[in-house]
Amino acid sequence: MSDYSSLKEEAWAANSEIPALGLALYTWGNVSAFDAAEGVFAIKPSGVPYPDLKPDDMVVVDLEGKIVDGKLNPSSDTPTHRVLYRKFAADDKAQVHGIIHTHSTYSVAWAQACRSIPLFGTTHADHIQTAVPCTPYLSREAVEQDYELETGKLIVEMFRRGVSGMADSEAFRKYSHISDIAAAAPFNPNEVTMVLVGGHGPFAWGASAAKAVYNGAVLEEVARMAALTLQINPSAELLPEYIVNKHYQRKHGPEAYYGQGG
Ligand SMILES: [Zn+2]
Repeated sequence: MSDYSSLKEEAWAANSEIPALGLALYTWGNVSAFDAAEGVFAIKPSGVPYPDLKPDDMVVVDLEGKIVDGKLNPSSDTPTHRVLYRKFAADDKAQVHGIIHTHSTYSVAWAQACRSIPLFGTTHADHIQTAVPCTPYLSREAVEQDYELETGKLIVEMFRRGVSGMADSEAFRKYSHISDIAAAAPFNPNEVTMVLVGGHGPFAWGASAAKAVYNGAVLEEVARMAALTLQINPSAELLPEYIVNKHYQRKHGPEAYYGQGG
């Protein structure tokens, strides 16, 4: 019998951070923790308030969607997590071992506006070097067919095709502001660790469940800062590329010198 207690503990601890960071009201939001060797992830159960959650309440699901451990129903967003792990955690170099989804206010505001979050400053550049991409709305067929699964597929599709590759979508042409994203190129999920789903909200991920929560909190703060920037100056300029590169490289490059090393 497999013992998933440490994976469940990791997922529980990460979920407990959601209310502590003010990223969700009530039971909104969920985090999962992935065990690549076992091909399973632990996720929050559906509809249990955060203060009542215990490590053993976490539900362990495999990549086919089968529950392998746990007594409760997993989060209704489980199929989205499953698709993202299948596609983004498939190779050895993948650093997608935790995923967070919330309805944090500023991230949702950008998603509802169907706008990618422009890269205005160094807080943003310290984490990703592109705008935070926003998908178009899901199609009617996708929503009616298998909503949560299709949400994951839409994210994967946009990472594969790049934002401009999605421009043939009518909804995207109508609502999205693609000129703020240079990239026609695909996004690497190891580098671009956050995304908005049009009309819905944010998903973020990282090398652990805790890192996913961190990136979800960063996304919310970057979303808030960008909204305030446009409020102060609606024609604010994007951060020049030489500053973007400097900030990203000092944290993530081969000669990174930010922090204490190691
Ligand atoms: Zn949601």
